[in-house]
Amino acid sequence: MNDCIFCKIVSKEIPAEVLYENEHVIAVLDINPIHFGHALIIPKQHCNDFLDLPDGAYHSILQAAKIVTKALVQSLKLEGYNLFSNNGKIAGQSVFHFHLHITPRYRDDNIRFLLNLKKYSDGEIKKYGTMIRKFIKPSSL
Ligand code: AMP
Ligand code: ZN
Repeated sequence: MNDCIFCKIVSKEIPAEVLYENEHVIAVLDINPIHFGHALIIPKQHCNDFLDLPDGAYHSILQAAKIVTKALVQSLKLEGYNLFSNNGKIAGQSVFHFHLHITPRYRDDNIRFLLNLKKYSDGEIKKYGTMIRKFIKPSSL
């Protein structure tokens, strides 16, 4: 993936502020942070999105996320933080190499997802449950 900006960070072709690195993942500061300290956990192997991740990658990603989150909480004295991942253009993904965002949160920082929460009508939650369960295939990982 020659033109992938995160692959270039992994290979050190372009500079980044690295917080943590091991054989499988690199954690860097986001250059356009929601709050200063906003970090990205990036698997070293290129994969476009969450479903593209190799089965063995989850543990190292979450382990690195925990290590970095602890450091953010302690260094910035955080009371809260968000972990999230945008997958697909319509979901806000702009770099198509999977990554997990970790962003500090502060009291009254006024950051809100603009949500228009829906309500299930009678029986509808069951209908959705049944429809989705048909596609639950743990063995297909
Ligand atoms: P997303 O929009 O969820 O795909 O997140 C991509 C993130 O990567 C954005 O928050 C960008 O600010 C960040 N980003 C893009 N280029 C770089 C870079 N060279 N170094 C660090 N962060 C970057
Ligand atoms: Zn890549």
